[in-house]
Amino acid sequence: MSVLLRGGLVVTCDPDHRVFQGDVALAGGRIVALGEEARAALATDYQVVHAQGKAVLPGLIQGHIHLVQTLFRGLAEDVPLLTWLRRFLWPLEAAHDERSLRVSAELGLAELLRGGTTTLLDMGTVHGHDVVLDACARSGIRALSGKAMMDRGEGTPPALLENTRAALREAERLSRDWPNRPDARVRYAFCPRFVLSCSEEMLRGCAALAAEAGALLHTHAAEQVEERAAVRALLGTDDLTALARCGITGSRTVLAHGVHLDDDEIRALAAADTAVVHCPSSNLKLGSGIARVADLHRAGVRVGLGADGAPCNNNLDAFMELRLAALLSKINAGTSSLSAREALHLATLGGARALGLGELIGSIEVGKRADVIVVDLQDIHTAPALDLFSTLVYACQSRDVRHVFVDGQQLVHDGELLTLDAPRIAAQAREEAPRIARKAGLA
Ligand SMILES: [Zn+2]
Repeated sequence: MSVLLRGGLVVTCDPDHRVFQGDVALAGGRIVALGEEARAALATDYQVVHAQGKAVLPGLIQGHIHLVQTLFRGLAEDVPLLTWLRRFLWPLEAAHDERSLRVSAELGLAELLRGGTTTLLDMGTVHGHDVVLDACARSGIRALSGKAMMDRGEGTPPALLENTRAALREAERLSRDWPNRPDARVRYAFCPRFVLSCSEEMLRGCAALAAEAGALLHTHAAEQVEERAAVRALLGTDDLTALARCGITGSRTVLAHGVHLDDDEIRALAAADTAVVHCPSSNLKLGSGIARVADLHRAGVRVGLGADGAPCNNNLDAFMELRLAALLSKINAGTSSLSAREALHLATLGGARALGLGELIGSIEVGKRADVIVVDLQDIHTAPALDLFSTLVYACQSRDVRHVFVDGQQLVHDGELLTLDAPRIAAQAREEAPRIARKAGLA
């Protein structure tokens, strides 16, 4: 189905940050024409979406999510990272089964899509990842997603401790089932959890498989002081060096967090072209710190934005992360260090580039995939919306998202999910979360 988005304020997020009032034509899964040429570019049979008084944006991109944790929202509060993992998150993940995994993924996907996120990079848990990939595919979202890889680590429940070879074989099988093709909406990404959870053999194996498959490598790094010290005590070196030695570095590597990076490490990331995903809510809630986003930017590191998992946020709301990224940078690096326009870049073209998808998505440009959202600017909390970028970053909320398209397919219409049954998912989540908490010995 072709679509004409008519009369909106089009925030292209292209390299020139062009904004214009007018039309956008979507056909064959792509953006085919802009402005006055849009209507003529479509055949007679097309759907018109009225966008007057609304902003038309590229779909938002979140570079670090854990769909399998959405069900654990509110179950792990007020503790730092390693305690949070060992006492709460790992036992909960170990208690997951097929039913709870599906509900958790669907709950996350429903929240993400309704809030205007059209692409995510997602780290799963150790087992059952087919269910998560299948839920992504059914929802229509664009996803890069992989199972977590874990073959060692203090406090890891036996159910999450993998045999290294078997884990690598399973990841390889998943990457064959969900290959890295440009036309595929769901693709596999290799996700060693973090240095403390992975042997050298596991890290090297992931790097080799990802290189062979042309897939992304995604892990956590430099998140927290205590975690970095634990890595140094275990390996005698820091996490970034340990990862790089095993091949987890370079243009296909995406590191979540990067909160505690010194100048040399930032330079090394830039030189290697390793990407970083900033997760401001998560870094605040786990007391981890504030990432040096402006410095990363200045050094030329590709930076994206992500909500991380629901238990360390507790939302998956891209607008919240945009707002926090801009606000925190003012504290960290000065009031003009990250403008609203630059913050929006993190969740659009900058985020796409961080995931190696800059040619495909991230901006409203002719030829790109038709991942587009329509955001209402007329509500009380956004009026009078005179400065478009500051309205979007500081005033807008996820509930202002009216329409969402991925590959030109409409997934949200006037705030309603078209591919996911929100009331059914919320009801199942209310049943499944206490069941899994009991199974994990936490309730
Ligand atoms: Zn994470």
